[in-house]
Amino acid sequence: MCLSETLLSLKLNPKESMSVCKDLRQNRNCGHFLNLLKKKGEVENPVLLAPELFNKPIDAEELINFCQDKRFCPYFLCKFLLKEMKVIICNYQWLFNPYIRDLFLQFVDQELNNCILVLDECHNILDVATEVNSNRLTPYSLKLCLKDLEMYRSPIIMQDFVKILLDHLNEKKRDLNLGEQEVDPNTYLKYLFEGLKFRDLNGFKNLIQDIQEFSVSIHEVKLANGKISRDFLGSIAEFWLKWLKTFNLDNYFFCFNLKEIKGKRSISLEIVALDPREIVIPILKSAYTSLNLSGTVNPYVYNNLMGLNESGKSYKGIITDSPFLKKNIKAIIIEGVDTKRANRTPEMFNKMINKINEVLACTPANTGIFCASYRILKGLLSNGLRNIVAKNKKNLFVEKPGLSASENNAMVDDFKAYASNGGAVLLGVCGGRNSEGEDYPGDHMNSVIIAGFPYHLPTPRVDAKIKYYDKVFNKQGWNFAYLYPAVQRANQASGRPIRKISDKGAIIFMDSRFKAKNKWISEWVRKELEIIPDKPNAIRHNLNLFWNSI
Ligand code: SF4
Repeated sequence: MCLSETLLSLKLNPKESMSVCKDLRQNRNCGHFLNLLKKKGEVENPVLLAPELFNKPIDAEELINFCQDKRFCPYFLCKFLLKEMKVIICNYQWLFNPYIRDLFLQFVDQELNNCILVLDECHNILDVATEVNSNRLTPYSLKLCLKDLEMYRSPIIMQDFVKILLDHLNEKKRDLNLGEQEVDPNTYLKYLFEGLKFRDLNGFKNLIQDIQEFSVSIHEVKLANGKISRDFLGSIAEFWLKWLKTFNLDNYFFCFNLKEIKGKRSISLEIVALDPREIVIPILKSAYTSLNLSGTVNPYVYNNLMGLNESGKSYKGIITDSPFLKKNIKAIIIEGVDTKRANRTPEMFNKMINKINEVLACTPANTGIFCASYRILKGLLSNGLRNIVAKNKKNLFVEKPGLSASENNAMVDDFKAYASNGGAVLLGVCGGRNSEGEDYPGDHMNSVIIAGFPYHLPTPRVDAKIKYYDKVFNKQGWNFAYLYPAVQRANQASGRPIRKISDKGAIIFMDSRFKAKNKWISEWVRKELEIIPDKPNAIRHNLNLFWNSI
């Protein structure tokens, strides 16, 4: 919703974007905003800027196109228009990010207690609520921070502090294996304040306060000089204030996180919020009421993780009847195959590929295969999936982790185009952008195969969540923190071919473990489930009947 090249070039998170936008406006450095203000002054009501557009609901794309044409700021035009609106559709960040929410509500002149929240695709809120409450520090931000401290002649101790952190992070980047390593937040604080020669934690706390104040003064000087930049120093102060506030709490997890992207190692020190309720409950308490909607959510788990019963409002879970016709949905669990670690052998991959062959042979046009992980995806490819796809005269499209959004969109468009040209196969992973955010109505995807049970790798972060959830949710840690997210990924993938009432689609769970866990599968799919025995041509027989029925 921003058209400023300066801001877009900085690639910031939502909160940082708000702050840089504020600086640009204060300095009268955003032409889009100034143009809009000037025009707005000429009309009584912002709707009159383009009555033919704004007298009816419009989507973001139409608004942005209009603004690009007129060189207006879409974000603020949207906000000006919102004051007049009864229904506002917005991103979760506007509501669940405390910093953005306060500014947004102020702007539209509303109180939460006057608002009815309709939370669509509400299963996503659990992750959003923990993400907005987490924080991270990287060597990149520390380097820029040090540059600011040196340039603006800060007290030496501030520079020493940033140097200690930078050296330590670089050392860990060199020495640690890829993945997460848990950090004891107490020990780490001791390491820092002893390194700075403080006698106790109070000295360290004062230093962080001083850094925060110093960041404000630097920011003011920069602003007065017309400079626009990220407030790295303020972000670091905020990170350590959060650490000091949370280091004794068991609903937070602390770690080094080492990744390798395109051959380059990167490290971050992270504060990870584990409990969505900390963010969600105050919002639910303040709002007039809320309606939470999802086609895949498990009401029992969702109710617990969101704290609906603790929000001071009465709660009613409603599972509605499926709107889809029984004859249009086929859902099967395949016996005889699974992707358990010990079973990931060439024999198992060959067996899966033979069963995939049966699905492809009777699918009219396009098929999606969403694997439990990239490891499983590679296992299928290296054991001959390409040959089987070619034998069925289909084209194969493979999702790659490093693809940009536009490259991926182009690939998905090409895949969809084959719906009317002999059919194709899209090979991706559960939990990825193509198995969750994308719709494939009609022949764009007739069949979907969930290849393997998509459990997450058991990382220290997941272990910490299981331990914490065991404690606060009556020994339900494994179910809530490990099993539920895995089945959610499968549920999301399984719904891809069924987007419209008229859609006809086959959903194939290709891992026998789904049988034991079938009560976690979305209700509308579970009602149609059949178990297919491990026999040659059993899948082909079952699906032929389905696709040939009218
Ligand atoms: S005023 Fe609008 S266009 Fe300018 S930086 Fe802010 S959001 Fe972007």
